[in-house]
Amino acid sequence: MSQSEQPCQDLASFARLPAWDRTPSDLEGLGYERDPRHLFGRLQRVATWDASGPVLSRLGRALVARSLRLDLPTIVEERPSADGATRLVLALEDGARIEAVHMPRAVVRPRVTVCLSSQVGCAMGCTFCATAKMGLVRNLASHEIVGQLLAVLHRYGPLSAQKLNLVFMGMGEPLHNVEALIRALEILCDPAGLAVPPTRITVSTAGHVPGLERLARSRWVPELAVSVNGATDQVRRSLMPIGKRWPLAELRAALDRWPRRPHQKITLEYVLLAGVNDDDESADRLADWTGDLRHVLNVIPFNEWGDVPSPYREPASERVEAFVARLRSHGCLVKVRRSRGRDARAACGTLVVR
Ligand code: SAH
Repeated sequence: MSQSEQPCQDLASFARLPAWDRTPSDLEGLGYERDPRHLFGRLQRVATWDASGPVLSRLGRALVARSLRLDLPTIVEERPSADGATRLVLALEDGARIEAVHMPRAVVRPRVTVCLSSQVGCAMGCTFCATAKMGLVRNLASHEIVGQLLAVLHRYGPLSAQKLNLVFMGMGEPLHNVEALIRALEILCDPAGLAVPPTRITVSTAGHVPGLERLARSRWVPELAVSVNGATDQVRRSLMPIGKRWPLAELRAALDRWPRRPHQKITLEYVLLAGVNDDDESADRLADWTGDLRHVLNVIPFNEWGDVPSPYREPASERVEAFVARLRSHGCLVKVRRSRGRDARAACGTLVVR
């Protein structure tokens, strides 16, 4: 190719759309003449890919050459941890970086949980969270959310969505980027693609009430986790600035309006911080706040950030146990979440890219 042809080439690739968030009907709209669900499946189902990416028919290749871009986020750092989890840093096309965590679980039926980011950095400003220190750099586009997952699956598996759980608990507040999140769910749950059941996807929110309402009206309503972290507005606000905007009572009312499936439980997350929110009275108030909500309470002992200084400490294990026992005495279903990937800085609230 002569040098004078180069700018046209660049212009052509600029005009092409990212492939990863095109729905079957988008592909049809771009002029794909065969069943667009077939091409969509070839793009989305990593099980059909070869080492370099999707394997396409002649017509599929022609459409891609004309209209679509196939570049994925690139994995630039891989930190395995002793418990089997791997912390991954991915670079996006503008150089921004996000983190994802791959967590296999070897039980009778092996499963993998992938923890995904929804934003570069985060705007919520929670005082105990390392990601908050980055501030919000930008939202992820829906193709970056999907591309992030496809890059991880292509490298680490599983190739089948039957063995996959997704949690939006990486960087960012998913409901602060709710339209891109909904579009990504639309793609990930599509029966012609990866077909991840929405019951296998958990979106964790700091308590963004309008985002909850928007997500509740979307086509594929995922499982919900809500970070409570404080049992009074005073404590919660001091930890999570979003608590000033939507106080506990308002958040609780929004959870009552959430469209639960039969038997579905809402996960409530509570980061336990020594001397801040780990006393018995907090447990009593927390139990009281949950009321008759069908829930499971995930108590997460604070993960220290390692090299970043933090005013918070992890409570002693006796305090964690006493807190949990107190909640159970009120009839709460409680699980203690020992974060995975601690030694690789992949644990909850320690994801930060410098
Ligand atoms: N923005 C979303 C999801 C990201 S954080 C949310 O707020 O839910 C996922 C969970 O990790 C949240 O429950 C959060 O409260 C918790 N978390 C944040 N920092 C932590 C830390 N240092 N140790 C333990 N848990 C932490």
